[in-house]
Amino acid sequence: GSPVCECNTCFGGPDCSQFSASCVADVDSGDPLFLEPFWMQHAASSAVLVAGWHRMSYSFNDHSSISQELVKLIRKLHAIVGNANTTGRFIVFGAGSTQLLNAAVHALSAHNSSAPAKVVATIPFYPVYKSQTDFFRSVDFQFAGDTSLWKNSTSDPTSNLIEFVTAPNNPDGKLNKAVLQGPNAKPIYDHAYYWPHFTPIPAPADEDLMIFTISKLTGHAGSRFGWALIKDKDVYETMSNYMSLNTLGVSRDTQLRAFQLLKVVTQRRGREIFEFGYKTMKDRWEKLNKALLMSRRFSVQENSPQYCTFSGKVKRPSPGDFSISSRIKTF
Ligand code: PMP
Repeated sequence: GSPVCECNTCFGGPDCSQFSASCVADVDSGDPLFLEPFWMQHAASSAVLVAGWHRMSYSFNDHSSISQELVKLIRKLHAIVGNANTTGRFIVFGAGSTQLLNAAVHALSAHNSSAPAKVVATIPFYPVYKSQTDFFRSVDFQFAGDTSLWKNSTSDPTSNLIEFVTAPNNPDGKLNKAVLQGPNAKPIYDHAYYWPHFTPIPAPADEDLMIFTISKLTGHAGSRFGWALIKDKDVYETMSNYMSLNTLGVSRDTQLRAFQLLKVVTQRRGREIFEFGYKTMKDRWEKLNKALLMSRRFSVQENSPQYCTFSGKVKRPSPGDFSISSRIKTF
């Protein structure tokens, strides 16, 4: 049967379209459950049944710590969506993109340098870049704040800079580009949100190190599955080694589930999930904008429309996160 619509506290009525002025919304953090109704509609084709005897081994026992079928499907997915060039790229899997973010920092920092690499990100940035880098801080790398502080250090041969570039950005949805340029500046592109639910896709991303995740693509944040597309062989090997030492690879049950989900995603060239995802996000943005229009205190960022090669239309972004600015003046 069709899933029942459950209204949140801000909307009521039979189709959840009636706005209640006294609503309270928790906007501190989110969970991509907006895709749950899509998966309810595809319950049978997305289901996974695993027999008890299946794939019991440590992955090193049969040379397949990474499912090559899943690698092929990921390449096909990017080709369909047109959001990343996978040609000449190695692929590493991670327990979500979170594990890959630190694997990338580890791989891009020099391991024999006298000073730790400086890890930077442009404000406003996803806070985990700082908290995770601080937590794993080592002789090889440390978090060093906002990118702009280091703009003049890119030609200093003693300073190794690693820049997190988030496109679209969490929290403001902007398609950021690396700020630091030069031989000592190494970007890590976090493309968690570079999918047509959230943003127009102007062109395939073509960077040296790009990180993706199913968390924001299919909504399966709990399965913990992400992947990195890596141009440089040494970086690929260092990141693979990190995965082996840290967790001995990604759970095969997770890989199997990711495979089944991506098979559904790639059906009909992605039309179904991305149409559903885009429409749902767009409707939510319309509701949010309507709610905030009633406020004299708060406003939300405006994102300008762009041509989307996936849909063939000019579209406004509908980001998964947002920043609210307060118009309260302090005197
Ligand atoms: N990058 C960004 C920009 C995010 O917003 C998130 C989740 N909030 C992640 C990475 C982590 O995602 P995961 O580990 O679930 O793949």
